[in-house]
Order: sequence, then C-alpha cells, then structure tokens
Amino acid sequence: MTRSTTDIPHHIVIIGGGPVGATLALALQQQGLASTVLESRAQGAAHADQRALALSYGSRLILERLGVWDELAAQATAINTIHISQRGSFGRTLLQASEHDQPALGYVLSYGALSAALDRAIADGDSIAMHYQSEASAILPGPNHAQVSYRQQDADRQLQCTLAVLADGGRSLGDIPGMQREIVEYGHDALVSKVQCELPHDNIAYERFTPAGPMALLPNGARDFSLVWTGKQDEVSQLLQLSDAAFLQQLHANFGDRVGQFLHVGKRLSFPLRLAHLKPVTAPHLVVIGNAAQTMHPVAGQGFNIGLRDAWELASVLGTGAESGSVTMLERYRELRKTDSQGGMRFTDFLVKLFNNNIVGLSSLRAAGLGLLDLVPPAKAHLVEKMSFGGRG
Ligand SMILES: Cc1cc2nc3c(=O)[nH]c(=O)nc-3n(C[C@H](O)[C@H](O)[C@H](O)COP(=O)(O)OP(=O)(O)OC[C@H]3O[C@@H](n4cnc5c(N)ncnc54)[C@H](O)[C@@H]3O)c2cc1C
Repeated sequence: MTRSTTDIPHHIVIIGGGPVGATLALALQQQGLASTVLESRAQGAAHADQRALALSYGSRLILERLGVWDELAAQATAINTIHISQRGSFGRTLLQASEHDQPALGYVLSYGALSAALDRAIADGDSIAMHYQSEASAILPGPNHAQVSYRQQDADRQLQCTLAVLADGGRSLGDIPGMQREIVEYGHDALVSKVQCELPHDNIAYERFTPAGPMALLPNGARDFSLVWTGKQDEVSQLLQLSDAAFLQQLHANFGDRVGQFLHVGKRLSFPLRLAHLKPVTAPHLVVIGNAAQTMHPVAGQGFNIGLRDAWELASVLGTGAESGSVTMLERYRELRKTDSQGGMRFTDFLVKLFNNNIVGLSSLRAAGLGLLDLVPPAKAHLVEKMSFGGRG
C-alpha cells in the first residue's frame, strides 16, 4: 500500500524555509531524520536579499558542520575587532579576536547568499521534502499529532505530523492553540543601508551608542560597511527622507571621524524594532524556533544567531532518539534553550535601556563602564564567549 503524505508516522514538518528552518532541515538530515519544509516564497526568491546578517563565530561552526561554510567563506567578511563607544565621551572598549583565541569574532554575510547556500545543500540532500509556494494557514496541535493546513498551487492541503516546527520568522501564524506571544514595541525603527567611507574598514565593526539610539557599522565586502542605525520612529523617517549628501553629513556628525568622511550611501530601508517572545508553549507536538520564538533589538547582533542555535539544538535532541513531539522531548528542548534565549533577550533589552536613558550622570557612568570593561580581561572574555556561543544551558 502506498502511503499518502497525511499518514506518514513520525514526520517532522517545518513551517518556514528561511535560514533557521533550512538549517534545522539540514541538521536533522545529518542526524538521519527526514523532514518536510513548507515555504511560502517561490524557489530562489530570497537569493537577492541584500540584508546583512551578523553571524557569530559559533554560527560559523554550525554552518561548517552542515557543510555549507566552504561555499560561504568567500562571500563573508570577517569581523576581527569590535569597537564599542558612546557619542560625547571618551570611554571605549575594544574586543579583538586575537585576544580570544578565535580566527574572527564574527562575520557579515548577506541573507541572500546564506539562503542560496542552504537551498543548494537542501536540494543536494535526499531526506528533505522542500515545498516552495506552500503557505501554511493553521497548525492544530492535538494529543497524538499536529495537523498543518497549507495552500499549494491553489489547493488546500493538510499534513499530519508528530512534530510541527514553526520557523516562520514570527510574521504569519500568531493564532495557534497553546501559543501566546508577548510583544513590547520599542517605538524605534532600524534604518539599514550600505555605506562607503574614506578609510578602509580593516575588518573592524563599530558599535556606537548615541542619545538617539545605538548604531552599528559592520564591515561588508572589500570597502563597504553595512549600517544599522536605530532611533525613534519619527527620527528614522526623517533620516530616510534626507538627500544622500545630507544623510552622509548627519551620519558623520553622529558617528565621528573614525572611518574618515562618508562618501556614498546605498538604498535606505527601515523596519520596526520590537521585543517579542513566547510564553512557554504548552501544546504537544509543536515547537517554535528562530525569530518566531524570539525577536529582539539588533543592538548586540544576537537574534539571528540564537535562532540558528535553536535549530541546531532541536536537531540534537531529536537525534538522541527522543520521541518526536512527546512531552518529554519538548521539555528537554525547552530546558536546553531557556538560558540562551532568555539571556539573549535580557542582555539586549538591558543594553537598549541603559544606553537610551538620559538620566543626569548616567552618561559619565556608562563612559566609565566602557573604559573599565576595556581594562578587565575576564569581563571581556565573558562578553566574547556570550556573543560567540550564547548562554549555555
Ligand atoms: C525587514 C527586516 C530587515 C532585517 N534586517 C536585518 C539586518 O540588517 N541584520 C540582521 O542581523 N537581522 C536583520 N533582520 C532580522 C533577521 O532577518 C532575522 O533574525 C532572521 O531572518 C531570522 O530568521 P528566521 O529563519 O527565523 O526567519 P525569516 O528569515 O523571517 O524566515 C521565515 C521564512 O518563513 C517563510 N514563511 C513565513 N510565513 C510562512 C507561512 N505561513 N508558511 C510557509 N512559510 C512561511 C518566509 O517566507 C521566510 O522564508 C531583519 C528582519 C526584517 C524583518
């Protein structure tokens, strides 16, 4: 008898084939486990996305183990030094890969390049059923399995699985029984673009705290930086409307002289910033990973890397032979990920609030803190460890 896709037992269905969902499918394959991925976009639609992702050194190791890093290495720009400063004060901290026994502190890579490499690895594999242009509309977790409804080629379809993994980036399926999302809007937007400067980047990433909000310049390619400039929504929308010349002038006024004059800016885009996380999911046969599970401010470059670790650890738990979708398996995964995801959110939220606070005297304290951090090697080592590998559970 031929089985239809609706009655395959122990089937893992991943909703969302973005970087986190695709990483999970590959990590499961490595553990000898098959999966089905439902992705709403057309094949290759993400490959032109120029959004710059900051990958931690730990994320590189995950991609290496999945066999996709070799293809990506030539397109990634290493971050060898991170320079952290505050506008209007002298306190600053330098983190250097060479002091922490790592070839790099992290890498900058485009979303499109990463998606293309992951998609190719999936196509080369033999245990991942990838369905493009397949949009999930509902997940119904039940006592014995979860039911996923989706639309493909104008037809409504359903899959039953022992484990439904929601990796949709948190942008589509919010209304699932047993899942509650808490959202705090920062009222801030992130403006992203590419800029060229007078001086070479020397593989230095700059994180600068200004009264309007944190900004980051990440080395990207031979000469360019990717800019992430966060601030209040009305201030960011004003920045979007400036002419290129006026924008570059504003950028220089806020960033200072470290990279010389700003010469050129690419297309400017913005997106809203929020802190969103799930209350512990109590539904059986359902797990939520990546941005769908936690979305945070980009200030410390944590969100995306935490998502990749979600995928990697979930595959490890399933690879130990734990019964897919069982209460024990889900509890084990939640326990394993709690420290890292909650710690990442607290750390990020703390930085945003600390540096956005204009209480008199706090600015000098922050400056002193940055200067002090620079003088305390164990504190710096702790920070680098946390940024590279997250909080270990
Ligand atoms: C506009 C924007 C700009 C950003 N810029 C930056 C940046 O400059 N630097 C940075 O580090 N981070 C940035 N981020 C955050 C970063 O993109 C995320 O951390 C990362 O993409 C999370 O990966 P993910 O796989 O969890 O989710 P996503 O990348 O969002 O992937 C989710 C996937 O699920 C698919 N999907 C969604 N709904 C369904 C459905 N119902 N059925 C089937 N498939 C579905 C989507 O098509 C997508 O492929 C940005 C985010 C946004 C929204």
